[in-house]
Amino acid sequence: MGGGCAIISARPKKMIRKAFKYRLYPTQPQRKDLERTLALCRQLYNAALQERREAYRKAGKTVGLYEQKRWLPGIRTELPEYKGVHSQVLQNVIDRVDKAFQGFFRRVRAKQKAGYPRFKGQERYDSFTFPQAGQTGVKVQEGGKRVFLYGIGSVRCRFHRPLEGKVKTATVKQEGEHWYVVFSCAVEAVPLPQSQEAIGIDLGTNPHFLVTSEGEMVEAPRYFQEAQNQLASAQRSLSRKKRGSNRRRRARRRVARLHRKIANQRKDFHHKVARRLVGRYGTIVHEDLNVIGLARSRLAKGVLDAGWGQFLAILAYKAEEAGRQVVGVDPKHTSQDCPACGYREKRPLWVRAYTCPRCGVHQHRDVAAAINILARAGRAPDRRRARTEPAGMGTAWAVP
Ligand SMILES: [Zn+2]
Repeated sequence: MGGGCAIISARPKKMIRKAFKYRLYPTQPQRKDLERTLALCRQLYNAALQERREAYRKAGKTVGLYEQKRWLPGIRTELPEYKGVHSQVLQNVIDRVDKAFQGFFRRVRAKQKAGYPRFKGQERYDSFTFPQAGQTGVKVQEGGKRVFLYGIGSVRCRFHRPLEGKVKTATVKQEGEHWYVVFSCAVEAVPLPQSQEAIGIDLGTNPHFLVTSEGEMVEAPRYFQEAQNQLASAQRSLSRKKRGSNRRRRARRRVARLHRKIANQRKDFHHKVARRLVGRYGTIVHEDLNVIGLARSRLAKGVLDAGWGQFLAILAYKAEEAGRQVVGVDPKHTSQDCPACGYREKRPLWVRAYTCPRCGVHQHRDVAAAINILARAGRAPDRRRARTEPAGMGTAWAVP
């Protein structure tokens, strides 16, 4: 019976991309070099954009990606300051311009509102990328205490968690006064043991971030609200300051800092929730946010709206890494139908719990919606269970 094993071990490895972000601690001169590099990249971006806009306006023709890239060596000889910037970093700038135009043309073709690619001001251009960092331009040094960046030198770096896999790209990023390096690495996916369990999630109404078809309710952390209040007060204070004053500049920095803080907290929270769902369920079904006609009432649901896209993106990549399935379904009527008998009824948003007039089942509105969402993916839960166990008033699901 010996020979069977070889077939099983031939399973191919699946590679995924994973990002690792670390804080940089540049010296004062390095800081100047980083700022200068960023400024040069931004100028190149705007110049390349300008050229394409003019070509498009004057002759309706497009200047191609490769045409623009061919001029880069010339730029480096004519403008010596560009010699201090890695040639691939400059190529990546042209790639970014190209991407902006691709997106523009795609929107035009789809007859959507197609904002023309815009020039980037100082605040709007905050990173540069080494597209082949694994081979050239960037090197992790001294057993992970410093990182060498072409044109900048050896910069102190805090690797608070180990870098994994094979480095593909590295992006150097400015956030307020801080600098970071983000490595994008090819990592071998580690599938979790299989799970037959499926769950539906309803992207919830305040204070719930989401509600599951099993009646679990995930609350948004309280510090969100606190940070939001701080932000509101900082914004009021900013609006009172005189234009061009030092106080105004300081107040603006404070607002920006709070925005970043909130964004980081939210991302952290999204990671935690996604990790828990992926850890347990083999299939996760959610509302597809791209479905046109997503009822307006749903979009007005709460302050956390802006984060759903990010949350679903994090959920999708974690699921991919773990070999789980994530399904987006059309959310139409999911908050109006009775999951036990299918009776449809319009209910105002403030009605949290209801009793079905046809079958008498008593349910929390969002739990019912989550059960309907799950059913849309062809993964209907046991209907009998929904009828006999109307426990769905929800159990709190604390995320620290
Ligand atoms: Zn019913």
